[in-house]
Amino acid sequence: MTDSSARLLSVRRFAEEAIDPYAASWEMGTRFPRELVRAAADVGLNGMFVPQSLGGWDLSQRDACDVIEILSEYDLGATFSLIVHLNLTSALMRADSRHLREFFGARLLSGSAVGAFCLTEPQSGSDAASIQTSIIDDGDEVVVSGRKAWVTNGDGADVFHVYGRDPKLGESWKAIRSVMVEKETVGVVIEKPPGTSGANVMRTTTVSFDSCRVSNKNLFLPPGKAFPHALAAIDAARILVGAMGTGAGFKALKLAIDYATEREQFGTRLSNFQGLRWKLAEVATGLVAGRSLTHEAAHCLDRGSEATTLAAMAKLFVGENSVDAIGRCAQVMGAFGYSSGTSVERLWRQARMLSIIDGTSEIQREVVGRALFEGAALSALRTV
Ligand SMILES: Cc1cc2nc3c(=O)[nH]c(=O)nc-3n(C[C@H](O)[C@H](O)[C@H](O)COP(=O)(O)OP(=O)(O)OC[C@H]3O[C@@H](n4cnc5c(N)ncnc54)[C@H](O)[C@@H]3O)c2cc1C
Repeated sequence: MTDSSARLLSVRRFAEEAIDPYAASWEMGTRFPRELVRAAADVGLNGMFVPQSLGGWDLSQRDACDVIEILSEYDLGATFSLIVHLNLTSALMRADSRHLREFFGARLLSGSAVGAFCLTEPQSGSDAASIQTSIIDDGDEVVVSGRKAWVTNGDGADVFHVYGRDPKLGESWKAIRSVMVEKETVGVVIEKPPGTSGANVMRTTTVSFDSCRVSNKNLFLPPGKAFPHALAAIDAARILVGAMGTGAGFKALKLAIDYATEREQFGTRLSNFQGLRWKLAEVATGLVAGRSLTHEAAHCLDRGSEATTLAAMAKLFVGENSVDAIGRCAQVMGAFGYSSGTSVERLWRQARMLSIIDGTSEIQREVVGRALFEGAALSALRTV
């Protein structure tokens, strides 16, 4: 068995043991399951993108897609919580600063602390460059003031990666920088999660930073580099969203096939009705198309080519297709597919978020549409 297949087997075992039995109750959203992040550390998942010399797997984007696809068969909320955590772990472990690596990164890698990413603000969603949170130098400290919205893991996180601007550098994206803030810092206020249609395990919520003073050693990404770093990270994140929708969609397809094979109506199995077989044939075709597009984007990123357009296409297509695909699978399962607590119903509700997180479908259309009128980006799409 290759290292890669052994890893995928251990990921599946992790999902079966640490996610599957709890996913339905986590969906009620009463608490953030810290044990998920600890169990992920035990199997090595938190180090998915961490260099091997530092104890990680250092996976390519393409290999990461396989891991995320497996996790997503079990629960999209738990998967996205882990993606947010492990992306931050990787960024911290790759930081030049020893303090960031050892004080923050190592704790996230070991699962003893949970991480969250804070870019969005109540008034700044798609237009992320317009954020107003301030990060102001004051001697050997910095003062962080602002309000962050829709923070995944917000109610369970120990450390927050906060984007804000240095007001003396003006209003452009070049003034944006980032800093690590610990939950215990005076002035951090975590609001009660408002609840979402699905994926309540993520405890997504608003977090305020009310003149929080932290050491300037916690400064992470500098002005001029922080915003491009966030955009580059978003290309990779969008590809993983493609893998999420693919995994959830294939799980729903399997559930629908199993159901249609067992259930009988009008004296025959549902699978004998051409109307249902054609429905599932279309679902399968869409899922395979989405997976191919996602892998194409991942390959592009791995070889260092322009991946922004393909990543946006993968996210757009899979994000929208997966809700439709899972919905059709649920339809094949009749009333059972509409019942609370079933995997197909939970995945269907959760999949709606794939068209919002890491940039909405409309923003993906903007990215792709812009590329169509830029010669360089368009020629990058002609890979054969
Ligand atoms: C479950 C969940 C988890 C999240 N986790 C995080 C997180 O961990 N960290 C974080 O920083 N953020 C997070 N977000 C926030 C997410 O990134 C934003 O919701 C997203 O970027 C959209 O912003 P918005 O919701 O403010 O919508 P808006 O930007 O206000 O958009 C509203 C509508 O207008 C459309 N629109 C906006 N601009 C354009 C345009 N130029 N052309 C056409 N249509 C447009 C949008 O597509 C959308 O349909 C999360 C969101 C959700 C739902």
